[in-house]
Amino acid sequence: MTVSLAASHAKGKFATDKIFGAAAAANQAAAQYGKEKVVNATIGSILDDNENLVCLPTVEKLFRTLPINEIINYAPIAGLPDFLDAATALTFADNRPDAYTDAVATSGGSGVIHHTIWNYTELGDAVLTSDWYWGPYKVLCEDALRKIDTFTLFDEQQKFNIKSFESKVNELLAKQNSLVTIINTPAHNPTGYSLADSEWDSVLDVVKEAAKDQSKRLILLVDVAYLDYAGEQNECRAFMKKFGNLPENVLIIIAYSMSKGFTAYGQRTGAMIGVSKSKEVIKEFADINQYTSRATWSNINRGCMRLLATIYNDKSLLAQADQERSQYYALIRERSDIFVREAKAANLNMLPYIAGFFLTVPSAKPDAVCDKLHENHIFAVPLGKGIRIAVCAVPSAKITGMAAKVARAITTV
Ligand code: PLP
Repeated sequence: MTVSLAASHAKGKFATDKIFGAAAAANQAAAQYGKEKVVNATIGSILDDNENLVCLPTVEKLFRTLPINEIINYAPIAGLPDFLDAATALTFADNRPDAYTDAVATSGGSGVIHHTIWNYTELGDAVLTSDWYWGPYKVLCEDALRKIDTFTLFDEQQKFNIKSFESKVNELLAKQNSLVTIINTPAHNPTGYSLADSEWDSVLDVVKEAAKDQSKRLILLVDVAYLDYAGEQNECRAFMKKFGNLPENVLIIIAYSMSKGFTAYGQRTGAMIGVSKSKEVIKEFADINQYTSRATWSNINRGCMRLLATIYNDKSLLAQADQERSQYYALIRERSDIFVREAKAANLNMLPYIAGFFLTVPSAKPDAVCDKLHENHIFAVPLGKGIRIAVCAVPSAKITGMAAKVARAITTV
């Protein structure tokens, strides 16, 4: 008999991460057959054409020259004020909504999701997201003793399925008074989809209609983890303007993260940005989330916050970082273009990819397809209903020919 000392709510918890599992298999194959023979499409960070992890040069240079006290010292629990200003400004660019806003520093976008679930849903509530979603959403919900529920992301035209979204919102609000909905856009993980501005209008119409019932509280968590790789800066942020003048019982929370935008993945720096018509709702937002930070991790990484504030407040540094990032954006686009073009030629069905680190091929047997691909030394991540391919991590030379191999694997399993 195994001995367990865990509390009842913690018993049996076990982080099975398919992404890390697939990555480990790829590394083993690289050790066995040589790196050049292996296609590792499992990694969620940008690798250059030599398959080395990319750090924006401006980020590296500045980080290495930060005064040591800016690295080791504590920071305010809410975050350095000039970091919060920078994160807010970089989130909205020219699309600041006409509303009250405030920001609280978090341990990356993950921290935003954690705090939002904890502070805006009741124990046992369901949190809503789309059926294609980033796996940790479920872990974050369940660890907080909440559940995850999903709407169908795509309709028959491969557009945002507003009907499914609407019926799930109403179904859940019939059972609970608070509803947190997580929408990951633009450049959704795992599909690469971005909601069109007109789709945002429809989403907000559903939310406004539901909010007519004053006993309900609707919180829209917009996960913008890939915002800086989604297209022209203001075009892909234009939807944020629509967050002005929403009903008082609607709160928008934007999950800002430095992980991808500033290639600072492990530095765990982000911010939750609250947007509301109500000053009181925003005051409460700042108070309760700071409190939860104190209770969860205290303050976050001071050096990385200082880094962002320094870059943002120096126009030439900011332009330089933007320029460096745009080269990697182009690199990802070049890789995804090859895959999309070849998928078409091979009659391989893909989910609608617009931008971002990943694209997805639907499949009824994702594990079998991924296993089959191992014969070609291709490693991708099996999801519940498809295969995720990290175009951020695979050089163009290795992407070439890959779609045909995926198509073949799908027809043979
Ligand atoms: N949201 C999505 C969809 C992601 O893919 C990630 C990272 O992979 C995150 C949020 C959070 O990243 P971080 O906590 O590093 O900011």
